[in-house]
Amino acid sequence: MAAEKRDYYEVLGVEKNASAEDIKKAYRKCAIKYHPDKNPGDKEAEEKFKEAAEAYEVLSDPQKRQRYDQFGHAGVGGAGGFSGGFSSMEDVFQQFGDLFASWGMGSGFSSFFEGGRGGGSRVRRGTDLRVKVRVTLEDINNGVEKKIKVRKLVPCTHCNGTGSADGKEGETCPTCKGSGRVVRTQRGIFGMVQVQDACPTCHGEGKVIKNKCPYCQGEGVVRDEEVITIQIPAGVQGGMQIPVQGKGNAAPRGGVPGDLLVLIEEEPHKDLIREGNDLVYNLLLDMPTAVLGGQVMIPTLTGDAKITITPGTQPGKVLRMRGKGLPIIDQYARRYGQGDLLINVGVYIPERLNKEEKAMMEKLKSSENVRPGAADKSNFFKNLFGC
Ligand SMILES: [Zn+2]
Ligand SMILES: [Zn+2]
Repeated sequence: MAAEKRDYYEVLGVEKNASAEDIKKAYRKCAIKYHPDKNPGDKEAEEKFKEAAEAYEVLSDPQKRQRYDQFGHAGVGGAGGFSGGFSSMEDVFQQFGDLFASWGMGSGFSSFFEGGRGGGSRVRRGTDLRVKVRVTLEDINNGVEKKIKVRKLVPCTHCNGTGSADGKEGETCPTCKGSGRVVRTQRGIFGMVQVQDACPTCHGEGKVIKNKCPYCQGEGVVRDEEVITIQIPAGVQGGMQIPVQGKGNAAPRGGVPGDLLVLIEEEPHKDLIREGNDLVYNLLLDMPTAVLGGQVMIPTLTGDAKITITPGTQPGKVLRMRGKGLPIIDQYARRYGQGDLLINVGVYIPERLNKEEKAMMEKLKSSENVRPGAADKSNFFKNLFGC
């Protein structure tokens, strides 16, 4: 593990004899460049961010820097030391959050304290809920309204979600004096560090309720069932997640409710296969119909449709029914087109024949037209396999 690590000076882009001030400046540059606020969801930036933090952690500490200069990574990674840097972004922010804040950067606390950074009490947000909804291809074609029963936290009706038995506002929390945060010192991977936590008394809200509602124990929410109507637009796909704003769990004491996230699951159709916005139907013709032509019924999402098979239809042919596929939607779920229904044609060669049928086949065999010519052969395979 140590062998794969980059040199800490190289990571920060400074010389071996760089001053403490230079190292701090260099780290500030790295932290700005790879900060998650600037690179949301970028895994590579995250790794660089953690790597820079690790390098700075060592080089900003004179003792650790001396050991690193003398023994390399082994000097700061041995027994009793850390075991390979920051394992998570939270660790980095726990360690350097205040430094980032002093540099005017996001200190990461916004993700720990829902409602944002800064002083004062915070509004709590209810958690999101996830539900799965199964839809048929017909539902996907038309769009559908689904009613589903969800077990979730709802505002307590006895206290109107305030959590207070007498309807009084909460008082300033005595533990954190209303800031919602407490600072404690703990042994971190690099020694003793100051860590900011949500206040255990008020859970970061900055206020406490004296006379708690007995029905919800002061939480302002209770568990209950709610029937929620969900509009599923046409054109959705399995795996899509549709957010229904504000239909998740209610937040304690009048906060903002979370969202309901509806995960779409597709129910397989008995005849039709989905391919993007197109549908596929496998049609196996009997030999005489393929030879003589005729009419066959094709199942579609809007009922059976009659199609004409031209005489001499070859297996491998693909027929297209325009506009009989699924709606094509844009990112705002607006329909701007319709896919096609593709019909894969196969021809069934009978495996067992009776005497009479055999005789008919024998008779056909001697007929000139049943034997393919060179051009027929070439066309057939080109059509079927593309070469
Ligand atoms: Zn209550
Ligand atoms: Zn508090």
